[in-house]
Amino acid sequence: MGIDAVMKFVTINELTDDEIRMTHYNLLSICHSSLSIGYGKERELCISRKDGCTNQYEVNLMSIYYGPRYERGPIMDFILIAEFLEFTFPGCIVYYGGDCDESYEVFNSYKREELKLHYFINAHRPYNQGGLSSPTERANGPICPLCKVTTNQYGWGEGKGAWSCLACGWNYSELADPIFQGWSDKFV
Ligand SMILES: [Zn+2]
Repeated sequence: MGIDAVMKFVTINELTDDEIRMTHYNLLSICHSSLSIGYGKERELCISRKDGCTNQYEVNLMSIYYGPRYERGPIMDFILIAEFLEFTFPGCIVYYGGDCDESYEVFNSYKREELKLHYFINAHRPYNQGGLSSPTERANGPICPLCKVTTNQYGWGEGKGAWSCLACGWNYSELADPIFQGWSDKFV
C-alpha cells in the first residue's frame, strides 16, 4: 500500500530493440533493487515502449515514490536513472511522479537538484515521524535496533501492522504468524 513511483521518457528518435535492451542491462545492473524485471516465470525488460507510440517509453520502477510530504522511496536511484537516460539519449525528456494522480512532472536537472536537497535535509524523517497516509497507521512505529530510527509502515491489518527500516531492512511484522522480527532481504 502506498504511492508507487512512475518514470517515463520521450526521445527524439525511436530507440532500437538493441538500445532498449542495453539500457535495460545498464540500468538494472546499478539499480536492480528499484527496477522491475517482471514477475513469475516471464521476465520483461525494465524499459518498455508505450503502446502505439514510437518515442515514448516507461522505466518499469518497482519502488515507492519520494517527494515532499511523502519521503519514502529511493530518490537517489531515480535521479541516477534520469541522469543516465539524459546522457545516453541526448535531448530526451524524463518525467517523474507518483501513481496516485497520474500527473508527472518534467524531471530535469533543476527538479532533481531540488529533490536531492530535500532528501539531504530531510531524508525519510517527515514521513516516518508522522506523515500518516492511512487512518490505521500508527504515529510511531517500532525503532530499528541498528539505525535507531522510526521504521516505515508498509503493511496494515485489523489492528495490526508491519514496518521496516528503509536503510538496513530490519522488519517487524504483526501480520506474520508468529510475529516476525528481524532482517529480511525485502526492502519495502
Ligand atoms: Zn535500520
